[in-house]
Amino acid sequence: MIEIVKTVAQMRSIIAKWRAEGASIGLVPTMGFLHEGHASLIDASKAQNDRTVVSDFVNPIQFAPNEDLESYPRDMEHDAALVEAHGGDIIFNPEPEEMYRGGFSTFVDMTVLTEELCGLSRPTHFRGVCTVVTKLFNIVRPDRAYFGKKDAQQLAVIKHMVDDLDMGIEIVGCPIVRENDGLAKSSRNTYLNESERKAALVLSKAIKLGSELVKNGERDCAKITAAMKELIEAQPLARIDYVKIVNAADMQQITVIDRPSLCALAVYIGKTRLIDNFFTQDIIGEV
Ligand code: AMP
Repeated sequence: MIEIVKTVAQMRSIIAKWRAEGASIGLVPTMGFLHEGHASLIDASKAQNDRTVVSDFVNPIQFAPNEDLESYPRDMEHDAALVEAHGGDIIFNPEPEEMYRGGFSTFVDMTVLTEELCGLSRPTHFRGVCTVVTKLFNIVRPDRAYFGKKDAQQLAVIKHMVDDLDMGIEIVGCPIVRENDGLAKSSRNTYLNESERKAALVLSKAIKLGSELVKNGERDCAKITAAMKELIEAQPLARIDYVKIVNAADMQQITVIDRPSLCALAVYIGKTRLIDNFFTQDIIGEV
């Protein structure tokens, strides 16, 4: 059975042993309830590193009080089986009290890149993400860390943080893994009932529509997002949080696609908030 490490001290001593052996280390940070999207990150880490650590930690400080911290799905037995099946070496699964010990008072925050998209709807979210990822980097000291393009703004924020703070860790972005019908895999999909699960297809349909418009030469951001919004608004169970196109480098809104850009959306299906996106570079290359 795969080892599940609960303390920072124990994790550090395992890392020290691996380092003494000269092993390279990959880190896959997750909040658990693992699926094939997470598995693809583990596979990518396995291919590039001697050892792979999967952190499995529902990080309380990236949730606002009105969000789903309490109901966030958990299944450690399932997670352990998935990590083992994909050849991960260790699961780091600390309790919140181990990560945020009494008197915890230091946070990593970021301006500019966190102002739009999810950062606008969830103002304290990226402070929580940057803080926990910095802690995980300091505990594991990986050579490389793996993040999904599913959370595109998060990927951009982490890359920027590593550069700004000279962390010296290679950040690897991995493609979005989808269900057969197109829905991006997410631990939160488990919240959806049968009719909501069908309605949730509007996200990937809107992404497909937007990317086809870009592929066919449309560069006017307002036109692209208007068409995507119209499609989503036709679904009664869907409520748009945002549909936007931003500069991929700084996550600021743009009006014309004249540089590498990110088209991202967040949509509530019932009470469940889901996200999806595409990078224009993945469709038309660098413009
Ligand atoms: P989470 O457990 O949802 O916080 O996600 C942990 C990591 O897995 C993040 O880097 C996510 O971007 C990535 N991830 C989640 N879902 C997917 C997916 N469908 N495809 C690719 N990566 C994903």
